[in-house]
Amino acid sequence: MAHNPRYGNWTPAMWRDRAPTLADLRRHQFEVILKCARCQLPVGVRLHITAAALGWDYVPWGKTRRCIRWRCGGTMAFWCYPPQTNQGIEMF
Ligand SMILES: [Zn+2]
Repeated sequence: MAHNPRYGNWTPAMWRDRAPTLADLRRHQFEVILKCARCQLPVGVRLHITAAALGWDYVPWGKTRRCIRWRCGGTMAFWCYPPQTNQGIEMF
């Protein structure tokens, strides 16, 4: 999908309205990762595996988890990459 500059002005709240749940993120083909705020480790999120554990109605916005890197202890937040923009959107 072609890059559309107007999406560069969208706030995280607007992206959340576009795709609040795992099902919406899949439907709109957003890539989703978890990224650690301390060590920056990026981990790809496979939506069907996350949904198998948490359900397709799960809302990852505002959620965090402990970093999976050995001995980091940081906090990971979800980021999404809408196909309409090159920007990563922090979902926290
Ligand atoms: Zn970390």
